[in-house]
Amino acid sequence: MPKFVLIFLSTFLLLAVGCEHEKSTNEKPNIILMVGDGMGVAQVTAANYWNPQKSNYYNFKTVGLMETSSTSHKVTDSASGATAMSTGEKTYKRAIGVASDSTHLKTILEELHDQGYQTGLISLTSITHATPASFYAHVTDRDMHEEIASQLVDADLDFFAGGGWKYFLERKDNRNLFHELGEKGYEMDSLALPSKLDGSKKYGSLIAEGSLPSKVQGRVDFLQRAASSAIEYFKKSDKPYFLMVEGSYIDWGGHAEDAEMMIQESVDFDHTIGTVMDKTKTDDNTLLVVTADHETGGVAIGKYYEEDEVGNRIEVPDTLGIQFNTDQHTASMVPVFAKGYKEELFSGVYANNQIYHKLMEVCKLPD
Ligand SMILES: [Zn+2]
Repeated sequence: MPKFVLIFLSTFLLLAVGCEHEKSTNEKPNIILMVGDGMGVAQVTAANYWNPQKSNYYNFKTVGLMETSSTSHKVTDSASGATAMSTGEKTYKRAIGVASDSTHLKTILEELHDQGYQTGLISLTSITHATPASFYAHVTDRDMHEEIASQLVDADLDFFAGGGWKYFLERKDNRNLFHELGEKGYEMDSLALPSKLDGSKKYGSLIAEGSLPSKVQGRVDFLQRAASSAIEYFKKSDKPYFLMVEGSYIDWGGHAEDAEMMIQESVDFDHTIGTVMDKTKTDDNTLLVVTADHETGGVAIGKYYEEDEVGNRIEVPDTLGIQFNTDQHTASMVPVFAKGYKEELFSGVYANNQIYHKLMEVCKLPD
C-alpha cells in the first residue's frame, strides 16, 4: 500500500575542503565515475529539496538518461548493472565481471590499469559488494565474497576504501589477505583512512567488518573524506587515474521504504559530488560522470496530506510527501550527469553498457 511520510528538512554539515592544487599535465584524462546505487530522478530530486545548500546537480550542463535492464531480467540488480557499465556488455542478474556465458570480461578499470592509469574504488559497503566488485572481479555470483576478496589481492588497485575486512581476515581457507596485500606494497588500515599519503605506496582502508553505518545510524563524512583522500593521493603522481565512488545506501533506503534514510543518503552523495568537483575544479582533463545502476523503491515525491478531525484529507501546501511503490528495484531509467573533459558524449538516451564505451572513447588520445 502506498505510504506517505512526512519529512522535515534536516540540516547537514558540508565538509569544508581545501582546494589548492595545480593543473594536471597528464596526456590522458582522469575519470571519476560516481554511482548512486538505487538513484533515480526522484532520489536526485530529494537531494535537491532536502539539501541545506544548493544541490551540486545544478552544476551539470550535460545530462542523459540510461536504460538499466539485464540480459536475464528487465529489472536488474547492482551486479549486472555495474558489470554492464564496467565491461560494456550486458549480462545476467548477479553476475560480476562475467558475460552471460560466464566468460570473463575485461573491465574498464583493468583496461585503464594496463594503459598506465592509477586506479581506485570507494564504497560504503564491503569492497567485495556487487558494485565495486564489478570493476575488478570475475565471478558467477555476487555472494562469492571470499573469492572476490582474493581477486582484489591481484587487481593491483592503488587505492581502495570501504568495509568488508572479514572477507580478508576471517576466511574459510585461513589466508590472511591483509598480510598478502602488505607484501604487495599496500598500507592496510582497518580503522581509518590514511592520514599521510605517500605517492609511492598503495592504500587499502577497510574500516568495517562488513558494511559501514548508514547516515541514520551515525556515519559522518566518510564518503567525502575517502573521495578527497583518493584524489589527493592520485595527484601526487603524473599518471592519470580512474576512480569509482559508490553511494551505496540510497538503494538501502528504497528497500527499507525508509524516506529519511533515502533522503540522507541522497544528500550525502550530493555533498560528495561537491567535494569531488571542488577537488578537481582546476583540472582541465578530468571527467566526472555521476549515474546509478538502477532505481530502487519506485519513489515519487509529491503532495503531503494530513487528516482533519472528521477524516478529510487536507493538503499541507509547504510540505512534501515521499511515496514508495515497491521495496524492490525498478526498471525506471536513471539519470547520467557529466562534467569536464568530453562531457558532451554523455548526453542523450542510451543503455547502461554504453557507459563503458563512452568512457573508453573519452580515454582515446587525440589523433
Ligand atoms: Zn538493491
